[in-house]
Amino acid sequence: MREKGIFEKIVDREIPANIVLENDEFMAFHDIAPKAPIHVLIIPKKWVKDFNGVNADLMGKMSEFILQLVDTLEVRESGYRLVTNIGTDGGQEVPHLHFHLLAKRKLEANFG
Ligand code: AMP
Repeated sequence: MREKGIFEKIVDREIPANIVLENDEFMAFHDIAPKAPIHVLIIPKKWVKDFNGVNADLMGKMSEFILQLVDTLEVRESGYRLVTNIGTDGGQEVPHLHFHLLAKRKLEANFG
């Protein structure tokens, strides 16, 4: 059986996180090692390994949640970057689907 991952432990309140927004299905919390003045991670509460495991229903609901977060953070006009890393070459460290939302700094167009 797969061991409970770090983000599932955050969902279950077994380890602390600075939560920005949540509903029954999704959670958004500040990244522990922020790469921008705002760096928030968005996850589905139910484990999905990565973007390869999404479907239209999940992404539809997750997109609505992310847009709600965008308004909560007041970055709709100033802009932001959404990134999801997948697998080894994608640089994914935590095997639980998450989007990074980075904002409040002019980000380089560098995907190195
Ligand atoms: P990725 O490389 O896309 O899998 O990103 C994983 C992210 O999770 C990194 O930006 C980490 O800084 C972040 N992270 C790891 N552990 C925690 C934690 N306990 N709370 C918040 N963010 C975390």
